[in-house]
Amino acid sequence: MTDCPPMEGMGTALITGGGRGIGAAVSKRLAADGHRILLTYCNSSKPAEMVVDSIRDTGTDAVAVNCDVTDAREVALLATHPWVAEGIDILVLNHGRYDRVHAEELDITHLRRTMSTNFEGAFLIWKAVQPTLADDARICVIGSQLGTRGSPHGADYSASKAALAIWARSLAQSVAPKGQRVNVIAPGFVDTNILAGDSSEKRASREEEVPLKRIGTPEDIASTVSFLTGDDSSYITGAVIHVNGGLYLP
Ligand code: NDP
Repeated sequence: MTDCPPMEGMGTALITGGGRGIGAAVSKRLAADGHRILLTYCNSSKPAEMVVDSIRDTGTDAVAVNCDVTDAREVALLATHPWVAEGIDILVLNHGRYDRVHAEELDITHLRRTMSTNFEGAFLIWKAVQPTLADDARICVIGSQLGTRGSPHGADYSASKAALAIWARSLAQSVAPKGQRVNVIAPGFVDTNILAGDSSEKRASREEEVPLKRIGTPEDIASTVSFLTGDDSSYITGAVIHVNGGLYLP
């Protein structure tokens, strides 16, 4: 790990679950935007280290920290990282889990696990880094279309994403006078591990279902994060931006 300060005018971006999937694309995109990258991973250390190496190869500093967002001690330890202490300019709450369980088969253990990761984990991270968030910090929360739409095989997931979104919108109203902005991105189908179990027929039917006729890429989400954390969105806060190729239009 090096201790280079971020480039002048830019800052430090913290991305949870930034080592793979959408998080990896966000980490790389925010690095390309000029931000120093502090990404967290839970189980997948190798992909996270590869993302860090690829960012460093471009001349931007990056570091990966192991942090299970459901473990308060690990979250507290993350908050002691020197880059957190120096101040966080961009916080992307991206981590998440989605285990398909039919709504009628959901049990309390599973519900608690999903809420603990997707909702409480995001809250714990924000709470831990809140004291060092910049006055103009930009917070971006990765929700889901299912947080508005619901799902028969993801009632727990949908509920966790709905909670996350309404928490984020509440926070946006609270911190706006300070100059901080909080926005939610609600992706539709995105080509990551979450869809890895799809058969080729299922994938084709998803593509057909999307009006733009393709499954989203992690980069589609990363470019929206880039916009929402940049100056071009300076008058946007408390928004839920649906990035789904027209799949769901609330
Ligand atoms: P992936 O399964 O590829 O990535 C999930 C990420 O979350 C990984 O980086 C993983 O880290 C991290 N994570 C999971 N559990 C924990 C935990 N307890 N503590 C810390 N990190 C954890 O999926 P995506 O990239 O697709 O998902 C990213 C976000 O996008 C999620 O919030 C997801 O709900 C959301 N989303 C995705 C959609 C899609 O179609 N792909 C659609 C709508 C929303 P590690 O691998 O190290 O364990």
